[in-house]
Amino acid sequence: AAKRAGRSTFADYDPSLNHNEHARRNLELDLRTAIAEGQFTLVYQPQVCLKTGEWTGKETLVRWEHPVRGRILPGEFIDIAEDTGLIIPLGEWIIRQAIEEAASWDEPHRIAINLSPVQMCNPNLVTVLTNAIAEAQIDPQRVEIEITESALMHDSETNVELLHRLRDLGVRIALDDFGTGYSSLNYLRAFPFDKIKIDRCFVSEMLERADCRAIVRNVIMLARALGMETTAEGVETKEQYDWLRRHGCLEAQGYYISRPLESEMAARPAASREESGPDQLPAPEQIA
Ligand code: C2E
Ligand code: MG
Ligand code: MG
Ligand code: MG
Repeated sequence: AAKRAGRSTFADYDPSLNHNEHARRNLELDLRTAIAEGQFTLVYQPQVCLKTGEWTGKETLVRWEHPVRGRILPGEFIDIAEDTGLIIPLGEWIIRQAIEEAASWDEPHRIAINLSPVQMCNPNLVTVLTNAIAEAQIDPQRVEIEITESALMHDSETNVELLHRLRDLGVRIALDDFGTGYSSLNYLRAFPFDKIKIDRCFVSEMLERADCRAIVRNVIMLARALGMETTAEGVETKEQYDWLRRHGCLEAQGYYISRPLESEMAARPAASREESGPDQLPAPEQIA
């Protein structure tokens, strides 16, 4: 067996598990250690206002600094964290840490935080957020919670109620990855989101495909008619950026604007980042 760090070194070998199940099992055991030992960091991806070109917010993205495997992206561990319930302590840490870091940024940008549907069942959620905001002494309007359509699918009444309680705290609510879940326009009626995030899958094919273009254009119009803001995700080219601006999208986020920034970089004002010169700009993140 390969050498592994932490408790999974001699993870009880179960011959009935196939290779994938075994790998997942090991990752799950490592995840428990990781949470206990605090092996996570947060990076922040800027969101730009398409009218002014200025950064208005940053989205929090979690990274696992695995002692053996190096940096692991959330696509590899969030679903394990959800299945095991470990997303609850991890998510609480992310909320506290992100809000604390954002409170010390030089610029008062908004801080967007992803919330897993599983976290919405955590009875402590409102308390955790309330305390984090109070301790950091941050304006709650700077805090934006991103939820996906799947969070509204099950038990939607309780969740809509929860969203209202969050709103009462003064935080903003964004509907993430719009158009990829079991999209139902009913969700837009059930709760007045502050913002709709148009998923990357539409944005990335928008200029090549008339159908994607039609979807993006109409989501922008729908959002506007409902009094909601729009952020386009995964903007990678100047052409996409310009098209979105011309079509009245309010904000954009993606590699064309900036890769996610390491925490120290996210804290500094844009001017000092530019002055530091291209050599010192953060390197594109390594894909694990
Ligand atoms: P998301 O919320 O839709 O986040 C955007 C993802 O798209 C991020 O991937 C980001 O790095 C990536 N991205 C941004 N711009 C571009 C671009 O121009 N091109 C391409 N190809 N990709 C781009 P990441 O960090 O791997 O996160 C993936 C997903 O994992 C997130 O999707 C979110 O659903 C989840 N996630 C990330 N951080 C957290 C967290 O703190 N808590 C929870 N519950 N989920 C998280
Ligand atoms: Mg998100
Ligand atoms: Mg998203
Ligand atoms: Mg997305």
